[in-house]
Amino acid sequence: MPSLLEKVWDAHTVRKLPNGQTQLFVGLHLVHEVTSPQAFEMLRARGWTVRFPDRTIATVDHIVPTKNQRRPFLDTMAEDMLGALERNCRDAGVRLFDLASGSQGIVHVIGPELGLTQPGMTIACGDSHTSTHGAFGAVAFGIGTSQVRDVLASQCLAMDPLKVRRITVTGRLAPGVYAKDVILEIIRRLGVMGGVGHAYEYAGEAIDRMSMDERMTICNMSIEGGARVGYVNPDSTTIEYLRGRRFAPAGERFEAAAAWWRSLASDPGASYDDEIAIDANAIRPTVTWGINPGQSVYVDERLPRPGDVPPGDRAGVAEALDFMGFRSGDPIEGTKIDVAFVGSCTNARLSDLREAAGIVRGQHVSPHVSALVVPGSQAVRVAAEQEGLDRVFIDAGFEWRAAGCSMCLAMNPDRLEGRQICASSSNRNFKGRQGSPVGRTLLMSPAMVAAAAIAGEIVDVRSVAAHAH
Ligand code: SF4
Repeated sequence: MPSLLEKVWDAHTVRKLPNGQTQLFVGLHLVHEVTSPQAFEMLRARGWTVRFPDRTIATVDHIVPTKNQRRPFLDTMAEDMLGALERNCRDAGVRLFDLASGSQGIVHVIGPELGLTQPGMTIACGDSHTSTHGAFGAVAFGIGTSQVRDVLASQCLAMDPLKVRRITVTGRLAPGVYAKDVILEIIRRLGVMGGVGHAYEYAGEAIDRMSMDERMTICNMSIEGGARVGYVNPDSTTIEYLRGRRFAPAGERFEAAAAWWRSLASDPGASYDDEIAIDANAIRPTVTWGINPGQSVYVDERLPRPGDVPPGDRAGVAEALDFMGFRSGDPIEGTKIDVAFVGSCTNARLSDLREAAGIVRGQHVSPHVSALVVPGSQAVRVAAEQEGLDRVFIDAGFEWRAAGCSMCLAMNPDRLEGRQICASSSNRNFKGRQGSPVGRTLLMSPAMVAAAAIAGEIVDVRSVAAHAH
């Protein structure tokens, strides 16, 4: 009885290679400005062309400024990168969703929202968080620059076989607990390397009840748990999300596609290489305190002592505490923050912005905090403005920015300075990730970021939310 991974994998297998790998056909190749210029150069140097331009879609996200988007950009390297993408797409006949398109945004936000991402696809992109698209029952993975070249040239990739771990999240989430807390919990339990060589299949009542936005948050961070791929079986939530989207099939073709999509779900008797169960009821709002996404505590817990963790993890805990300037045994609640960032491909969709706005409505950002909201796409920004969310954030003292990766990483003007501490809805808290080599990132849900922005320090969103609503 096959799992979804096996069904999709088999359907896209071109051939088995003598070294044990599979030559896999890639249904959709998503391209952005950072990992593609060299790949296009390599293609050009060999006299090759893009094999399937109509299966290749580009946008600009990592380097775009979110404050002043007038061209040419002040950052000449960013301007060069965007110029290269524009030229490469024009020459190859690849569709580019640029700043003027109205559909630009973070690559993992626009794929789903345009209906490009569909169940049963294989999807590759030169970005680690491509696993996001697995929320639709696609097999989606990040690739490096030389693989971007390979996919451009052949639409194929040589892939190692994957094991499948089913992670069943039973029960329901308590108020104030979000998809972000679920995936942080999974990573904390299984470790940042726990998923190496695996696809994570997310199942169970808590996942079944989630919206597509929430499922995307979960799948997005699969890679932070070491998994190559993370996915949720397609169901009626998936199908209704896709109905009417620009690139989804229309009319009768949609119904036929929907029937096929449903058939791709893992069979009830599918066998897994590993199975884990997690109780959703027991999860509490979670905050990372360290330098990888597995180093987290519940907001009402204290920071670990090196002696509390297995011997192999002790040096990592000591290093993280030292870098962060935190002390074992201290509570995470009450940690002062300097910056609050609601954004990134993990948590910058409309529902994330609604949750954050619900917390800040009628409140004001703490005087010592700079707070910004960066919608994941132009479409999210417009939809949020139609609901008046921009006003809620601006009135509360947040900056309301244009779509892009922004402060998730250090490739545009949005950066931490010095030892600043950032409450962030993004996905990585590695040293230097947000632009300052000594800057500090605490990952959490957008609602927790919003609550921290108002309080000026880490607080338990469950107590704040009780007053906000
Ligand atoms: S938001 Fe962050 S993780 Fe997502 S694509 Fe951009 S840089 Fe990568």
